[in-house]
Amino acid sequence: MRTRAFLALPLVLLAATVTPLAAAAWDPGVAALQVGLHAHGLYAGPIDGITGPGTQKAIRKLQSHARIAVDGVVGPKTRRALGRFARHRLGQRPLRTGNAGWDVASLQFQLAEHGFPSGGIDGIFGPHIDGALRRFQKYAGLKVDGVAGPVTLAALRKPAAMIPVPLAWPLTMPVLGDRFGPRGDHWHPGIDLPAPLGTPAYSAHSGEVVWAGWRDGYGYLVTVAHGHGERSMYAHLSRIDVRVGVWVGKGVRVGLIGATGDATGPHLHFEVRIHGAAVDPLRALP
Ligand SMILES: [Zn+2]
Repeated sequence: MRTRAFLALPLVLLAATVTPLAAAAWDPGVAALQVGLHAHGLYAGPIDGITGPGTQKAIRKLQSHARIAVDGVVGPKTRRALGRFARHRLGQRPLRTGNAGWDVASLQFQLAEHGFPSGGIDGIFGPHIDGALRRFQKYAGLKVDGVAGPVTLAALRKPAAMIPVPLAWPLTMPVLGDRFGPRGDHWHPGIDLPAPLGTPAYSAHSGEVVWAGWRDGYGYLVTVAHGHGERSMYAHLSRIDVRVGVWVGKGVRVGLIGATGDATGPHLHFEVRIHGAAVDPLRALP
């Protein structure tokens, strides 16, 4: 029993270190702050919603410039130091095309968290946010009007979608690269699995091939629809081995690893969507 107690300790510590990565530790308010600091030329780090050393340093610079207490704490005075950008907190006004600022950046980050990223997180409500917002509204069964009012914001406070069926790894020897979540000033909507060129990629679940061809950014892409609105996507392939309309079982080869589309090296970009919302594939993988 004693041995077991000793063994249990490292496991608990491990769980404590892994949890913040697995569960979303990102704060949309912090992301909005980072966008504001970036707009003021004080921050060049990632828009990841995490108050790390870079963000802390930028807050102190802002406070020093504004001649207020340099304590690294974001209170009303610090927010005011961001000027026009921080005038509105999320929920104080309906957001639509043409708006800009803290609340827009916060909305943009929340849309991304729910699987509807809109390019660079910049806090400027343009066509990119409008498109993502309308897709979210459709997904959530709301009126699709491109205006983020109280009903849309309430829907965004609900947890993001879950993957209903367990998936299999799409590679036999998966190595995890970039995860689902913030990456630079963008949102990475899937996981990256680096592998040598020509490594086979397999369907993570049975389903019908609904896309097998080139798609901007994704390069050669295979998309498999698994029913119940769930789809898995295999991107940057060097070769495609299936055709649209074909039914594939779990573990069927769909293509070979490549670096087509926006890829700096050979890897599989594996993305899972539920009714159009990109979800973290790691939550359904063994
Ligand atoms: Zn990727």
